[in-house]
Amino acid sequence: MDLEYSYPLYRPPSEANSLIFQVTLGCSFNQCSYCDMYRTKTYSERPWEEIQMEIDITSKLYPDTKRIFLADGDAINLSTERLVEILEYINKKFPSLERISSYAMPKNLLQKTSAELKTLRTAGLKMLYVGIESGSDKVLKKITKGATYKTIVESCKKAKESNYVLSCMIILGLGGKKYTYEHIEETAKIISEVSPDYIGALNLHLDDSLYNEFMTKFKEPFEFLDDLQILNEIELLISKINPSSPIIFRANHASNVYSIKGTLPQDKVNILELISQLKKHPDMLKPKILRRF
Ligand code: SF4
Repeated sequence: MDLEYSYPLYRPPSEANSLIFQVTLGCSFNQCSYCDMYRTKTYSERPWEEIQMEIDITSKLYPDTKRIFLADGDAINLSTERLVEILEYINKKFPSLERISSYAMPKNLLQKTSAELKTLRTAGLKMLYVGIESGSDKVLKKITKGATYKTIVESCKKAKESNYVLSCMIILGLGGKKYTYEHIEETAKIISEVSPDYIGALNLHLDDSLYNEFMTKFKEPFEFLDDLQILNEIELLISKINPSSPIIFRANHASNVYSIKGTLPQDKVNILELISQLKKHPDMLKPKILRRF
């Protein structure tokens, strides 16, 4: 028997080979204007009996599982007691397990005490994916992120202090042409301050279903960036990130104009050189038709 998922189902690209348990459905916030992942779902928490049954069945089918991702949008919104119950049961049933991870919003992390986060870390939750999107408070407000520079830094630092592996996402082009400089300058600043283990930079992509809502919430005309302007954003971002610990940087999502990756700060010069070459040879960029989502 395979798991019967409630679709749509999402997980980060780096969890492509992970076993997924949907311990919650939907997103407890569900209001970011650029995201329609869970718009068709009302947030709910799956009953323990169902989760337990799925763990029992899959542990027999895939006993050598090494990675597990807890879905949907913010599994960490569950009570600490319920999460510990799930984590401990998973660890008991999958003896080869190396990592359990989930998405987390700043508000989820701030709602838990440091002691609770440490308890969850000890119980086996190892990696958290946090959408920063932008460091600019103006842009964060316009995309109705429900977070600010301050709450993002506080929440990410809290997670790092509790020894989580932190993978953060940002979105290129999110401020449009008008706020491009502010968006990138503040995003480089917040990345440097948080210094997560990983940064994934995606390109803004709006499905037709979200277009009107995004534009309305932005509250002023929004102009998308072209490929060259996106490269300028990556260039400025890379040049301004000065982390306190190494960050693995990736802009290699399907939405990106070119696959760019490296470790910051050590690969800064090489990445900037690559971007300079791409700006001179735009024919090297990925054709728009291949930028699928
Ligand atoms: S918190 Fe995450 S999943 Fe929820 S609406 Fe915002 S981006 Fe989407």
